[in-house]
Amino acid sequence: MEIITSPADMAAWSAATRKSGLTIGLVPTMGALHEGHLSLVNESQKRTGATVMSIFVNPTQFGQGEDYDAYPRVLEADAEKARAVGCAAVFAPPASAMYPVGYKTYVDVEELGGKLCGRARPGHFRGVATVVLKFFNIVRPDEAFFGQKDAQQAIVLKRMVLDLNVPVTLTVCPTVRSRDGLALSSRNAYLTPAERAAAPAICKGLTAAASLYLAGERNAAKLIAAVKAILAASPLIVPEYIEIVDTVSLQSLDVIDGPVLMAVACRTGVSRTRLIDNTVLGGSL
Ligand code: AMP
Repeated sequence: MEIITSPADMAAWSAATRKSGLTIGLVPTMGALHEGHLSLVNESQKRTGATVMSIFVNPTQFGQGEDYDAYPRVLEADAEKARAVGCAAVFAPPASAMYPVGYKTYVDVEELGGKLCGRARPGHFRGVATVVLKFFNIVRPDEAFFGQKDAQQAIVLKRMVLDLNVPVTLTVCPTVRSRDGLALSSRNAYLTPAERAAAPAICKGLTAAASLYLAGERNAAKLIAAVKAILAASPLIVPEYIEIVDTVSLQSLDVIDGPVLMAVACRTGVSRTRLIDNTVLGGSL
């Protein structure tokens, strides 16, 4: 497995790989790899000839006062994990190679980037869309793999690919969870033991709402109330939003009719860690 740090070298590696007859799958990550990231590699391995994992803590998707500096950076351990699951290359550029002096161009997926997490994190999805399009242009993958855990990200990127005629197929893979239901996240490392013990309430709430949905409930307010009630029993897990939205437009819905995204964001009471999770009712992304 190659570890590549320059965009020009990455592009050359991709061109040579394609020339050798292999299709390329891209798994973009910020590193601190866990089983959720590795499940995306597994899916890519099934569907493409060579998997590239990017590992890049992207400065443009972090707001003022967010955890850009604190975000875990463990490239050596990550590269070992990427090698073990069969990645053909890791692309880990320095920020100065992705955003050189004089950098001016950003991708803004209008409206979608401002909803749900975009309200608390203005500019976040602009940074995500920008860096992912840059990765697409450098790596030129046939397919790219994203986790449902970050459902809004997947929806924003699908819109971008459609709107800008980007020749790549996006696949959204299921959320990988720990045994108690908590969605795996690099940010779980910030949780205090008490917060970690309380955090599965988010998944429990979503599961309760999904059961009500399966039993026939289609009133969004009632499903949201079910999640709220479960979170209320865990004072360390404070909801920021609980919403039911259309899976394409992210418009909030009162009555469920067709596949919808039920998305939750919470902040923990002590470490102030932001946790997100979701379920898709009546379909998939
Ligand atoms: P991140 O490193 O957090 O930017 O995540 C990189 C990719 O891994 C994104 O497509 C995420 O949606 C995906 N991902 C993160 N956590 C999980 C998880 N628990 N299950 C599945 N995919 C995940």
